[in-house]
Amino acid sequence: MDTLAEELARTLRVAHVLGLINLLGHLSVRIGDRILVTPGRGLGSPPPNRITASDVLTVDFDGRVLEGSYRAPRDLAMHCAIYRTRPDVKAVMHSHQPEMLAFGLVERELLPVVHLNADQVQSPLPRFGQGELLTTATQGEALSRTLGDAGACQLPGHGILVVGAGLIEVLTRAHHLEELAKMNRLASPLGKLNVVSAAEAARIASQRAGMEDFRDYYNSLDPGPKPAPAPMAPLISIKGVRERVALACHVLHRFGLVNHLEHVSHRLPGQDRFVISPRGDMGKIQPEDLATVDLSGNWVEGPLPPPPFRFLHRDIFAARSDVQAIVHTHETYGRIYPAAGLSIPPVHRIGANLVEHTLPVYDVPDLIFDEEPRRAVVALLGQGNIVHERAHGTDFVATNIEEALAAAIHRERLAELHHRALQLGRPRPLPAYVLERLPEELPSAGEWWDYWTGL
Ligand SMILES: [Zn+2]
Ligand SMILES: [Zn+2]
Repeated sequence: MDTLAEELARTLRVAHVLGLINLLGHLSVRIGDRILVTPGRGLGSPPPNRITASDVLTVDFDGRVLEGSYRAPRDLAMHCAIYRTRPDVKAVMHSHQPEMLAFGLVERELLPVVHLNADQVQSPLPRFGQGELLTTATQGEALSRTLGDAGACQLPGHGILVVGAGLIEVLTRAHHLEELAKMNRLASPLGKLNVVSAAEAARIASQRAGMEDFRDYYNSLDPGPKPAPAPMAPLISIKGVRERVALACHVLHRFGLVNHLEHVSHRLPGQDRFVISPRGDMGKIQPEDLATVDLSGNWVEGPLPPPPFRFLHRDIFAARSDVQAIVHTHETYGRIYPAAGLSIPPVHRIGANLVEHTLPVYDVPDLIFDEEPRRAVVALLGQGNIVHERAHGTDFVATNIEEALAAAIHRERLAELHHRALQLGRPRPLPAYVLERLPEELPSAGEWWDYWTGL
């Protein structure tokens, strides 16, 4: 028989497999007058795919950590307030699940278009906040009042909160809400929809066999805790740089930002040289495949020729002594917004700070091989961290590869979320006071790196 901590850890791992949780999100369960909760973020804290029962924290209803080695989630106050005011609630999950996030950004109700969760959306889900991190008891209590006796609450611009009588019920509800939100979005251009009525929804809810069959199904999805990735050679070594560039290529490929014509480059420590990924399947690039190039652009080492685009990377390294890493992507959403002459609005916490400044765009479709366009692109980049080449791609530069990778992925995800929400209505950007606080509230690029490279 599993302990409750084992069940909690497993349910979080399954929520991760289902795409409901990524690095961010947490889950808790009531045990007497205490709460078991998955750890908050912080260096060394295991991401959801690596979590085990021994990582789980025990906290009291005021959020004080009684047992556990990691920090509690910063917004634990949400869980505590709900347990204090809702005796029926035995488990709480906070997630940033993408389809529900899109609905949170617009004034539009989820319609019960399918039987799953039809009873949960007979009246509109409550909504709380404008993207804040809810860290105080006062905020938690206000959220709890807004939640009332509902099973879930939208946190627009941030995520959702799901509550229930147990861990599997919460997981099932979150998963079914996500499916329902996706079906609502896909059905949105089709006109008026036939829905499940309140009476039909009540009948279906009573027909549903307990949660046992759900439990078996969801438990069967558990891949078990993943081991932490093997430590890399130090960044001050050539081997360490090569390993990081290859890993960055794999992560970008996994998230669909690159295929085979894009590149990642990194300066070599103590040398006027850099390594760059050659043309080829970026999901399979190995550290030894990278080409070494000098600051004149000459190919000095490596089994495969460096791409012609290396000259732009060379120019950026020559112009910007602070830049250590460059990520060049041919992404999807991040290219269609500039194509439409639109900026990506800061509609969600993650990535919002990346789109605060106007995107510099080189407005001539070109491969940027020749000197004149290269000079123009470097000038547009200036002292910034991003430059876009219209109808071509985007360059992210940074003092470390973690930052460049995080910027590329977060910007693409943010654009994708906005695009989803745009199919549903008029998504609202985060207010200025929320944007201001984000840099100190969000995980570092290093934490994202640790999570992504361990997937
Ligand atoms: Zn959150
Ligand atoms: Zn390109």
